Amino acid sequence: MSNNSSILPQLLQQYPWLPSLKDIYRDIALKDPAQFINDIFNNKDYIHIIDRTSKFFRVAFENLEEFPPYRQDEFNISFYLLLKILLYVLDDKRITNRIANLYSKVTYQDMKNEIIRNEYFNLHQICMDLGLDIRYIDEETYHTNLIRDMKKEYKTNFKIHFTDYLKLASNLKDEYRKLVNNALHEGFVYIIPKELARLIQEYVRKKFLEINLIEKDNLENMRKSLFKVKNFKNLYDEIVSLWELKKEDFEYSIQVRFEKDKNLMEIFPPCVKEILILIGEGQNIPHIGRLFITFFLLALDYPVDNIIEIFSATPDFERHIAQYQIEFAKKKSYTPHSCETLKSLNLCMATKYKDDLCIKGYFSKKKDQEQKIKHPLFYIQIKQFRLSRAPND
Ligand code: SF4
Repeated sequence: MSNNSSILPQLLQQYPWLPSLKDIYRDIALKDPAQFINDIFNNKDYIHIIDRTSKFFRVAFENLEEFPPYRQDEFNISFYLLLKILLYVLDDKRITNRIANLYSKVTYQDMKNEIIRNEYFNLHQICMDLGLDIRYIDEETYHTNLIRDMKKEYKTNFKIHFTDYLKLASNLKDEYRKLVNNALHEGFVYIIPKELARLIQEYVRKKFLEINLIEKDNLENMRKSLFKVKNFKNLYDEIVSLWELKKEDFEYSIQVRFEKDKNLMEIFPPCVKEILILIGEGQNIPHIGRLFITFFLLALDYPVDNIIEIFSATPDFERHIAQYQIEFAKKKSYTPHSCETLKSLNLCMATKYKDDLCIKGYFSKKKDQEQKIKHPLFYIQIKQFRLSRAPND
């Protein structure tokens, strides 16, 4: 993506992941990592950056979606670079996911706050710096809905070239984001500012995830060199031990339980396991997958708070929205989707998990013949039944 040389330095302090950082703040952005760490950790003026960083990891490990100590000041650039160096040497995909999720949420919140105030200048500048083919236009109505006598008009000031739209939205699988479900005119997709900010949030998240893809040939040498700075090594150790403690919680939370001493994860069908694992890894889940998991867990009397905790690892998690949606689903007592529906939605994971019960079915005594699994809740009943019949070790 190309740069915009007219970008204001303040914008980079606020959004240091922008490509222009390397041009405008080259003295910091292109500094040798060992030198950078040395400068930060041996200068007491920077002590608050270290403190900010340590807090950021704590908040990310708790899967929270806000970071109150976040400041859009001149130190924000060093804070961002320090996070990236730490993630490189920590070399743990799950930690990177947590940091990527929190950082991108904080960024989204910043952009959203500006949108609420009807300030679109920064959003436009961000798009320009990312090299996106974006047009800021006089407000246009791109869609009208007529429900009974009520006319609802959808308006926006932004349109983006469809190739850039597809690039940004490639990781987000929701139906409403598909190109065919959006207003397209002469190669441009009309997009509301909040949705544009959400796509940029995903760009920021992916930028952090790129750290996982960097060749690690030089990792040990890099660690050796950086660990010479004692306070950096202390921070690294602190993060590692925090994570070790948290990891246990995390792994435990995947062992989903709705009754004391009953481990449901081992009897969950592949379609459920897959989504829970992806959520645990902090990945994006399509809206339909979230609905299915919510209905499924609610059908097992899973407490609302517990379901919220499971979702808290997702990149776009907003606690109050999740709570409202789950409570709404609970009130409505929606039934989880059947296998047939899940197959049509590509959420059936029977083949991927080579699951015998899903693939071959079971023998029905009632019908005296082999039967196919028709519903994930029935899968659980059979598994539970088989487990209860299995000889004890
Ligand atoms: S067959 Fe049914 S229960 Fe099994 S993975 Fe597919 S959708 Fe889930």
